[in-house]
Amino acid sequence: MKIIDHNYINGAFTPIRSHESLILKNPTTEEAIAQIYLSTPQAMNEAITCAAQTFETFSKTSIEERMQMLERLHDALSERESELIDLAVLEFGATITTTKRRTKNAIRLFLDIKDELQTYDFIKQDAFSITLKEGVGVIGVIIPWNANLAHLCGNIAPAIAMGCTLVIKPSELNALETQAFLECVHKAGIPKGVINVVQGTGEGVGEALTSHPLINAVSFIGSTKTGKRIFEKCAKSVKRMTLELGGKSPTVLLEDASFEKAIPHVLSSAFSNSGQACHAGSRLLVPKARLAETERLLLEAVARLRIGDPKEETTHIGPMITQTQFNTVQSYIQSGIDAKARLLCGGLGRAEGLTRGYFVKPTIFICEDEDLKIVQEEIFGPVLCVLTYENEAEAQRMANHTIFGLSAYVFSDDEQRALAFAKQIRSGRVLINTATSNAKTPPFGGMKQSGLGRMGGRYSMDAFSEIKSILF
Ligand code: NAD
Repeated sequence: MKIIDHNYINGAFTPIRSHESLILKNPTTEEAIAQIYLSTPQAMNEAITCAAQTFETFSKTSIEERMQMLERLHDALSERESELIDLAVLEFGATITTTKRRTKNAIRLFLDIKDELQTYDFIKQDAFSITLKEGVGVIGVIIPWNANLAHLCGNIAPAIAMGCTLVIKPSELNALETQAFLECVHKAGIPKGVINVVQGTGEGVGEALTSHPLINAVSFIGSTKTGKRIFEKCAKSVKRMTLELGGKSPTVLLEDASFEKAIPHVLSSAFSNSGQACHAGSRLLVPKARLAETERLLLEAVARLRIGDPKEETTHIGPMITQTQFNTVQSYIQSGIDAKARLLCGGLGRAEGLTRGYFVKPTIFICEDEDLKIVQEEIFGPVLCVLTYENEAEAQRMANHTIFGLSAYVFSDDEQRALAFAKQIRSGRVLINTATSNAKTPPFGGMKQSGLGRMGGRYSMDAFSEIKSILF
C-alpha cells in the first residue's frame, strides 16, 4: 500500500505533520491501495505565504520564459502518460478508453495555452490610454475527484501563462495520481513556489484556503452545494472567482431526429465517466408519440453496454469511486422507485455478474413528473430520467426547468432547427448531434447555479487576469 505523506511547497516535497489519515480503496476490487495523510491549516498557510512571496518575482518573468515552462510541463507529463492513465483507472475506476482520451487532452492543454500566449492581448494602446491585462496574483484552486488531471492542467497552464502562482487543494481521493503529477512538475523545473499543493480535506484545509487574505482568486470546481459555501467565504475579502459547479443537463431529441443514430450518443453522455460527469446528459426529453420507440432503442443499447473492470478496453461503465458514492446513487434510485417513476432497466443493487466493487446498474426511469427529486437533482451515477413533451415549445421550457445550466444536447436531422433550439437553452454549452466535441479549447462553464465565469483556453487566462487602465 502506497503512503502519501508529503505536500509540495516551495519546490520541495515537505512532510505532512499530522497523524490524521485516510485509506483509499480500489473501487473495482475494494482493496486498500493507499493511505493519505491529511494536512492541517498550518501547512496551507505556509503554502499560501510562499506563493504570495513568489508572485512578486514570477509575475515579472517574460512571456518567452513562461512559454518554455509550459512546454517543459507538457514534456514531463507526456513521459509518464501511461502511468498517469493507470493510476486514474486504479484509484478512480475511470474506464481506460475514456481515461486515455482525457489524459492526452489534459496534457495537450499546456501546448494549447502556450499557443494562446503568442497572440494574447496583454496590452492595448490608443492615443490617450493603455489597457493592461496583469496576472490576478495568488490563485487558490480546489478540485473534485472526477477529472483530477484535467483540472490540475486546466488551472496550472493558464496561471503560469498569466504569471500567477498557485496553491492547489486536490481531492483527497486522487492522491496517487496527484503524487505522480507532482513528480512530473518537479522534473519540469518550474521555479520554486509557483505550484504548491496541499493534501487534505475541504474542512481541514479547503476552508483555510478560501478564507486566507493572501489568496487573490479562487478557482473552484465541485458541487453547487460546496460552491455556495466557498462563494460566501470569498465574499468577505472580495476574491476573484470562477465556480465550475454541478449540472442536470438535458438531452433533447427533436421530432425529426433519427433516434437510431441519437440513442448511442444519449447513453454515452448520460453514462459518461460511469455517470460521474458534471456535463452528463441525465434528463432525456423525447416527443410523447415516440416514447415506445425510445424505450425499445434504449433497452437494446443498454443491453450492449459492458459493466466491469475499467482496465478492459471493452468496458463502458466502471465502478463509482467510493462506497459512499455508490450508496448515494442507490438512495436516489430508491427515491425514484418510491416516487413511482417507472423503472425501464437497472435498479437497486450491484450490477449483475459482479461480486465486488462499487458497480451501479445502468438505470433508466420513465418519469411523468418533471419535479421529482431524481429529475431535478444531480445524482452523479449512471441514472437517466426520460420525460416526454407535446411540442417544441414545451421541450424548450422543460429543458430549462432546472436550477442548473451547464450543458445540453440537441438532436435533429435539420442542423438549423437544432441550432435555433440550442439558442433557447439557458446553458453554458450546447452540443448538436453529438455527445463529444473536438473543438479546440472552447469556453466551459455554467449558467444559473452551474457556476460563475468561464474557463478553457484564453477564457481561463482572462479569468486569471486583472485589467488596468493607464490614462494620459
Ligand atoms: P465537492 O463539492 O464535494 O468537493 C470538491 C472539492 O471541494 C474537494 O476537493 C473537497 O475536498 C473540497 N471542499 C469540500 N468542502 C469544502 C469547503 N467547505 N471549503 C473548501 N473546499 C471544500 O465535489 P465532489 O464530490 O468532489 O465532485 C463532484 C462535483 O463536482 C459534482 O457536483 C460535479 O458536477 C462537480 N464538477 C463540476 C465540474 C465543472 O466543470 N462544472 C467539473 C467536475 C466536477
